[in-house]
Amino acid sequence: MDAAFTEARELDRDDPLAGFRQRFLHHDDDLIYLDGNSLGRLPIETVERVTCLVRDEWGDRLVRGWSEWIHKPKQIASKIAGLIGANEGEVMVCDSTTINLFKLVVAALESRPQRQVVLTDDLNFPSDLYCIQGALRRYPGTRLEIIKSEDRVHLPTEVYRSRLSEDVALLTTSHTSFKSGFLHDMKAVTAAAHDVGALVLWDLGHSVGALPVDLGGSGADLAIGCTYKYLNGGPGSPAFLYVRRDLQEELTSPLWGWFGQKDPFAFSLNYSPADGIQRFTVGTPPMISTAGVEPGVDLVVEAGVQNLRLKSIQQTEFLIRLWRDHLQPLGVSLNSPEDPTVRGSHISFGHPEALRIDKALIEEKNVIPDFRAPDNIRYGVTPLYTSFTDVAEGVKRLRDVILEGAYKKYSTEKPSVT
Ligand SMILES: *Cc1c(COP(=O)(O)O)cnc(C)c1O
Repeated sequence: MDAAFTEARELDRDDPLAGFRQRFLHHDDDLIYLDGNSLGRLPIETVERVTCLVRDEWGDRLVRGWSEWIHKPKQIASKIAGLIGANEGEVMVCDSTTINLFKLVVAALESRPQRQVVLTDDLNFPSDLYCIQGALRRYPGTRLEIIKSEDRVHLPTEVYRSRLSEDVALLTTSHTSFKSGFLHDMKAVTAAAHDVGALVLWDLGHSVGALPVDLGGSGADLAIGCTYKYLNGGPGSPAFLYVRRDLQEELTSPLWGWFGQKDPFAFSLNYSPADGIQRFTVGTPPMISTAGVEPGVDLVVEAGVQNLRLKSIQQTEFLIRLWRDHLQPLGVSLNSPEDPTVRGSHISFGHPEALRIDKALIEEKNVIPDFRAPDNIRYGVTPLYTSFTDVAEGVKRLRDVILEGAYKKYSTEKPSVT
């Protein structure tokens, strides 16, 4: 693989984003981290920011800190808005992705009371399906319809079009599929749903920070997303939601609390929703983890999401080329789209021994991918800090595990977290 490493070094040398790698903490330079799409790396600035919040703001300012903290979720949200084609006042940082999904699914369903169907597909994140199933239990007669992807990689817009009808209240799916990396045509799918009068909710978990999203230009109604993947906000950092401006007064969140109340400090005994996006929030935001979101978002803004997308495509194309030369001959399949325009920033490789190979990569080769059942080894490329040399190393070490049979000594038992 010498030629691959020579090429990787040249690509790294010419990479205008290469400097961003040093803005993240690296304890181990040999570690090949390919799981930034599950948990982004720690920005060095975040250490300072969170320490300052705890020690100086909480420690010294005490409850007075709230007069500044209270504005943070909105301020960070307006930075995220710039990454997803939303306007100021259409995005809020709050709660978890799943809780935001629940709020918006119920709000959408209640705004279309004559319709019974929520439409999704089996490339969507399963937790989203659980959340919707739980929400629909409250509405007898409603149901979740799950479209099946024929090749388990792609889901063409025409399939959605053929399943949409006036029974559909809401179409919701992941913009980028967590497993195959398939990227929906947001504009076309949204238009197809609007043709039958349905609302559309996009889960941007595997998109935001990795590629430009244009909610406004696509006419999207609703969206949610997390901040701990490509936005590097830290484990369990708060999520965000998007509600298009003209829908904000029309929709009602099912979770009412004082942060979504018009004048919370009047302590009125009756709920009346705040104006705008604020009404989709519930209670006190977790300030330590909220503060930790901002430096990661700032880095993405500084790098430019268009630039990140260009590098991500260059890197996933490089990865696929190395797969064809070095892994395909060893029985590794490609479980992701070959066309970069319908692909996010991660690649899934298939192998019958994927689980044990994954274990050997982590235990012996200092590579962190992740395993996605039943047979996927997922390599996430995070253009902010993944180098081309990382990509080549990731392929070389995977090849070595297979050639050496290093995986054979591991059990087929699944660990509690993959
Ligand atoms: C990561 C991810 C989630 C996670 O939701 P949480 O509430 O943070 O656990 C949801 N949806 C998608 C598409 C994701 O990628």
